[in-house]
Amino acid sequence: MAAATTMAGGRGTGNDFGVSACFPVPDLTTATALTADFLDRGLRRVAVTFVNHAGAVLVKGVPLARLPLVARHGVGYSPVADAFGATGLIDPQQSLARPDGDLRLKPDLRALRPLDPGTGWAWAPGLRFERDGEGYALDQRGFCARQQAALAAAGLSAQLGFEIEWMLGLPEPAGGWIPAVAGGPYGADRLVEGLDYLTAVAEALDAAELPWLQLHPEYGAGQFELSLAAAEPLEAADRLVAARLVIQRVSRRFGWTCSFAPVVTAELVGNGGHLHLSVAEHGVPLLGGGPGPAGLTARGEALLAGLLEQLPALMPLACALAVSYRRLAPGRWAAPFRVWGVENREAALRLVPAGGGEPAHLELKVADLSANPYLLVGAVLAVVREGLGCHRDLPPPLSGDPAAAPPAEAPRLPRTLGEAVRAFEASPVLREAMGEALQRTVAEARQAEVRRSDALADEALITSTRSWPLTGL
Ligand code: GLU
Ligand code: MG
Repeated sequence: MAAATTMAGGRGTGNDFGVSACFPVPDLTTATALTADFLDRGLRRVAVTFVNHAGAVLVKGVPLARLPLVARHGVGYSPVADAFGATGLIDPQQSLARPDGDLRLKPDLRALRPLDPGTGWAWAPGLRFERDGEGYALDQRGFCARQQAALAAAGLSAQLGFEIEWMLGLPEPAGGWIPAVAGGPYGADRLVEGLDYLTAVAEALDAAELPWLQLHPEYGAGQFELSLAAAEPLEAADRLVAARLVIQRVSRRFGWTCSFAPVVTAELVGNGGHLHLSVAEHGVPLLGGGPGPAGLTARGEALLAGLLEQLPALMPLACALAVSYRRLAPGRWAAPFRVWGVENREAALRLVPAGGGEPAHLELKVADLSANPYLLVGAVLAVVREGLGCHRDLPPPLSGDPAAAPPAEAPRLPRTLGEAVRAFEASPVLREAMGEALQRTVAEARQAEVRRSDALADEALITSTRSWPLTGL
């Protein structure tokens, strides 16, 4: 795409990759042609979103016909949006909890896609800029874009794909959660019970141009899972955001509530948001075809060792809600152990050797869907780069149940959000990648979530985010 680059680099980025390098503003001719194409296809309006520090997807809708103008100048957004908590309330102790200031949210037209064509809605992820056109240092997608550019500059490329788990419930009954579709774990009976729904989800994903690999009932009552096809990092995060909106829309059409909450009820298993990742260096895959355990290359071992080291620090980005840490119990397949394993589904890092037409890759299994995917993906890329620059010993893979292994061999990951935030704040790797202001304000958002949870008894905490991200039910 021809680009008239007018943006200066982001402030406090912690590296040299400014927004201008990652986000070329399309020239008017290109934007007008794209808009005309979407208008021809019956689309009329665009939902421009960003994901705030708390992981909520925020939006402004604009007429599609205005898109070329909006792409150039953006729409206004208050910086206070990153101080909205998990339930939408603002904790005044955060430095962003201020009434003043304004940012411009600009849609990234390279990622424009239909959202719900039947209603004329398209979707584009946005980036926020200062009013003077400078990239906003706290913009999460900008951070992810910079990390992707830094990776490429180091001769590395990554393919990432998210899994989405969700539970489908009847419209919030007072005081409870009732699964909307019957049928057993992974059951074909549940597939058939919910066939009209799953067909509608599949059709809606196709209409939104979201490539997917698998769609099926999961283990928990009323639980389903979608695996999105792998893509470049930013695109993978975009797909997660758009796919959840699509699932939410279809669920609502059926009159049901879909919950992406890490814990929906204390008894049920949780919803994960696992992240699959493969990395190549100068085109050579690092996670397979080598002489190491399960075919790891020496570089792949360094990458894995770096991720293991930084796992506790990554946790507030992978699992952002206080209740996320209730999901992370042994035996719930949420992989709460700081170990790696080959095809071990209780290891936080699961190595999946090549096979079935798929390259060898890693699954970050601890992550859930309270994560802001841009922050999580950006941070993972930063850790990958750092790991490849160091020589660390990789412990042997853990086989069997980590819960049965001596704790020294299978340590638990942080058990509370508070513990995780301390590891995050202490990480020089994330400080360097995110910049002081982004790291600090994300930590503030997590501390606000810790304060919110401290005021609630266990059951009330689960109920408060039971239909996450839906609030106000
Ligand atoms: N639902 C489990 C979780 O909370 C994951 C189940 C699986 O896919 O292995 O992450
Ligand atoms: Mg699953």
